[in-house]
Amino acid sequence: MLLELDNVSLAYGRIQALHGISLNVAQGEIVALIGANGAGKSTTMRAISGLRPVSEGSIRFDGQDISKLRADLRVVRGVSQSPEGRGIFPGMSVRENLEMGAYTRKNRAEISEDLERVFTLFPRMKEREKQSGGTLSGGEQQMLAVGRALMSRPKLLLLDEPSMGLAPMLIQQIFDIIVEINEQGTTVLLVEQNAQQALSRAHRAYVLETGRIVKEGTGAELLHDPAVKDAYLGVA
Ligand code: ATP
Repeated sequence: MLLELDNVSLAYGRIQALHGISLNVAQGEIVALIGANGAGKSTTMRAISGLRPVSEGSIRFDGQDISKLRADLRVVRGVSQSPEGRGIFPGMSVRENLEMGAYTRKNRAEISEDLERVFTLFPRMKEREKQSGGTLSGGEQQMLAVGRALMSRPKLLLLDEPSMGLAPMLIQQIFDIIVEINEQGTTVLLVEQNAQQALSRAHRAYVLETGRIVKEGTGAELLHDPAVKDAYLGVA
C-alpha cells in the first residue's frame, strides 16, 4: 500500500469533521472519494497533505508514519495536492506557477523534463506560458493547478474537485488527463462531487457521509449500487 489511513479523526475546534476514517490506496491506483457537501472529503485531503493536524489515528505513506510530519516535508516524500478552488498564484505567469510546483526539487534537468511533460498533457498551458495565472479562464486555472501539483513529481497526486466549475466537455478532458497521468505511473486519490465521472474512471472508491466511510468498492460496483445511484448519481 502506498497510502494507509487508520482510524483518522480530525476536528476544527469543536466541530468533529472526521470520525475514525480508514482507507487505503495501492501503488498505481486511481481511488475516488465521493460524498455530499460537508461530508469531509476536503478535510480528508487536508489530513493527508498535512494542512490540518489529525487528532487521532495514523497516516502511513510509502511505509512510514507521516501523521505528524510538516506539510512541506510530505511534498518532499512524494505527496502533492492540487487544492479545491485552484489556489494558483494570480500574479505569476503560467510558467512561474508551474516552476513553483517544483520548489522542493533541485535537479534542473528533471524539472525541465517535467515542465515539458505538463505542456504535452496541457497544450493550452504551453500556449499561455507567459500569461499571468489570474487572467486564465476557470478551466485553464484548474489545469494549471493540476499541472503545478505534477511538478513536484509526486508518487501520490491528491486532486480536490478537479472538475469543479468546468463545462461538460472540459470535465471529460480533465478526467482523460487524470487517467493518462495515472497510466504514466502516478497514483491518484481524487475527491469529487461528480460521482458519475469519478466512479467510471476510478479503480476503487469510498463513500463518505458526515465524516465516516459508509461504503467502499470498485468504481463499477458503486456505479451500479442502488443506494449510491439514488444518493449521488441522480437516478433511482
Ligand atoms: P464540499 O464538497 O462541500 O467541499 P467536503 O466533503 O469537502 O464538502 P469538508 O470541507 O471536508 O467537506 O467539511 C467537513 C465538515 O467540516 C463540514 O461540516 C464543514 O463545515 C467543516 N469544516 C470544514 N472546514 C472547516 C474550518 N476551517 N473550520 C470549521 N469547520 C470546518
